[in-house]
Amino acid sequence: MKTVVSGIRPTGNLHLGNYFGAVKNFLQMQEEYNCYFFIADIHSLTTHPTPADLHQSVKTVLAEYLAMGLDPEKCALFIQSDVPEISELYTYMNMNAYLGELERSASFKEKVQTQRNNVNAGLLTYPVLMAVDILIHKADLVPVGKDQEQHLEMTRTFGNRFNHMYNTNFFPEPQAFSFTGDLVKVPGLTGSGKMSKSGGANDAIFFSDDDKVTHKKIMRAKTDEGPKAMNQEMSTEINNLFDLMHLVSEQDVIETFRKQYADCTIRYGDLKKQLAEDTLKFIAPVRERIKEVEADTEYLSRAAKTGMEKARESAIKTIEEVRQIIGFRKFY
Ligand code: AMP
Repeated sequence: MKTVVSGIRPTGNLHLGNYFGAVKNFLQMQEEYNCYFFIADIHSLTTHPTPADLHQSVKTVLAEYLAMGLDPEKCALFIQSDVPEISELYTYMNMNAYLGELERSASFKEKVQTQRNNVNAGLLTYPVLMAVDILIHKADLVPVGKDQEQHLEMTRTFGNRFNHMYNTNFFPEPQAFSFTGDLVKVPGLTGSGKMSKSGGANDAIFFSDDDKVTHKKIMRAKTDEGPKAMNQEMSTEINNLFDLMHLVSEQDVIETFRKQYADCTIRYGDLKKQLAEDTLKFIAPVRERIKEVEADTEYLSRAAKTGMEKARESAIKTIEEVRQIIGFRKFY
């Protein structure tokens, strides 16, 4: 069975875009592959979170992913810092990563611009840690977005360099995971872009929002003056509302509104009311489940421990072989 590795940023507060663009794919992957999903808390230290914030975010993200259906029995859902072998391999791999190539990484260049007064060494060697996250489990497949392709390429470079240096074929070359079908892009509510946390308070529909807030956000979503002619092409705003409907509403409901749009009888107020109702039907039970899981310290602790054990089993196997290959051989 192929091994898949994917990281999760420890910024809690998931929205519909995260669910349909990432979590849903994880749910499918855990059924079909040997999956390692980790909450990247070591990576997040580059931004210097306070200890309390860091702990809270990791907890929230863990609760959210569990509540949404990641099953500790089906996949290894773990916290990166629970696996010290990752930090050990990171130390070794840093010896074979060169300053020039790290400085050329797109993400480093971007961070140098966006956080000028915190250009720390962890940012520079971020691609090494990312590579290690993947190599430690000798992953075959990594689900990546367009912006992550360079990191995967660097992972292959570091793995191959290690293999070449020690005349071995120890690390396999991980490939980008391609989903069958198109990747879903969930639009935001405030305009043409995709739903995101940074899109302002009214752009994203968060699982943590209460019913009133969600309802209000959807009712406030941008529309246009309405179709003026039969079968008129849709504006981006209206198309976005239909795209959202496709995620949460029944097919016949969508068809009814499509027909109304085509013959110019549509009332956007009704469309948004329906969308709000269907979104709430989808979100409310998940939101309640997140609250339950987050309050269930015993379940969280058991889940994190199971994940840690699964991840360490695989990581220890890798690191022991790496030590041998490198020449760290015991005298006792
Ligand atoms: P973020 O932490 O906000 O970068 O999101 C984590 C992951 O959620 C991304 O890597 C995407 O896979 C997914 N995602 C976020 N926003 C959207 C969106 N609007 N549509 C589809 N997928 C999204």
